[in-house]
Amino acid sequence: MNRLRDKHGRYITDLRVSITDHCNYRCVYCRTGNEGAIYSELPLAEYLRMVRIFVELGIEKVRLTGGEPLLRRGLVEFVRDLAKLRTLDGQPLDLAITTNGHLLADLAQPLKDAGLSRITVSMDAVDAEKFARITRVSNGFQKVLAGIRAAKRVGLEPVKVNCVLLRGFNDDQIIEFARFSREEGVVLRFIEFMPLEEDRVWSPEVVVTMAEVLEKLNQFRPVRQLPNALSETARRYTFDDGIGEMGIIAPVSNPFCGHCSRVRLTSDGKIRTCLFSLLDHDLFSRVQAGANDAQLSEYIRTVVDQKEARHHIGESGFVKPSRSMVHIGG
Ligand code: SAM
Repeated sequence: MNRLRDKHGRYITDLRVSITDHCNYRCVYCRTGNEGAIYSELPLAEYLRMVRIFVELGIEKVRLTGGEPLLRRGLVEFVRDLAKLRTLDGQPLDLAITTNGHLLADLAQPLKDAGLSRITVSMDAVDAEKFARITRVSNGFQKVLAGIRAAKRVGLEPVKVNCVLLRGFNDDQIIEFARFSREEGVVLRFIEFMPLEEDRVWSPEVVVTMAEVLEKLNQFRPVRQLPNALSETARRYTFDDGIGEMGIIAPVSNPFCGHCSRVRLTSDGKIRTCLFSLLDHDLFSRVQAGANDAQLSEYIRTVVDQKEARHHIGESGFVKPSRSMVHIGG
């Protein structure tokens, strides 16, 4: 069986699936605060069929996202069904969820029992007031903290915490997050802000770069780099005493497109070959038209072959992608 590969020679092994376009948070760097869901969502059985076909083509990691995936009814049963799939090598999938964590405290155990491997929780401040200012939700911080702790308790390891840094908003939280990683035993991922917001707030000046994050961490304690897997998006660090792990995902200042192994399926069943794609590829319309598995596989291969070589953030000809992050699935 020929594994999915694009024309640049990259094997595609990771699929991110958005299972809803709805979100209960309105983070300032992501949402306008006015718009709700824009795109439809499909019955979970339809995602399951499409994911199964992707897995038969060589996908090994599946990450559920949104919108906010924990809002979706039937999520636990869906995870249970996904956990039954096997890779081409006969292994279970590496099955993860990216969530804002608001509803995680009650769902961590059922998700673990259903076969979820690990979880990433987005949290952009470790200060409740700052957290509320960023998310525009007043009671979120304690709930997300409880969600992170529940995920740790039930063993959804490694529990990763994603933090998008914005100059003037939460760049004073870098050292606080380092402390958080050390005290809570979670893996921190600082992410550079990308031009993927509903509004137009991105500018190069707002991006807190990898170099700046490293400088701040070093002021707290000397950092030491950890080894990376080739397709890993984060550069990983710990401190001199080996306690805590912080990664920096730097698509703006240090792009990693050459090792990209990802494609995305949107909540309405469109394939996106890059976060910055200017168009979608309509897989679900083929499902609706009655295509069989072989025809869908062939279509997926043709689409993946066209995956973009790289993004063009920061270049003069940069064109904003046709969808924002929340409507793609981050
Ligand atoms: N609702 C879930 C959550 O909060 O994790 C999943 C969807 S959310 C769009 C996925 C991730 O994308 C979050 O970690 C969020 O912080 C990140 N994100 C959203 N907009 C971004 C941007 N413009 N640049 C970088 N990361 C962004």
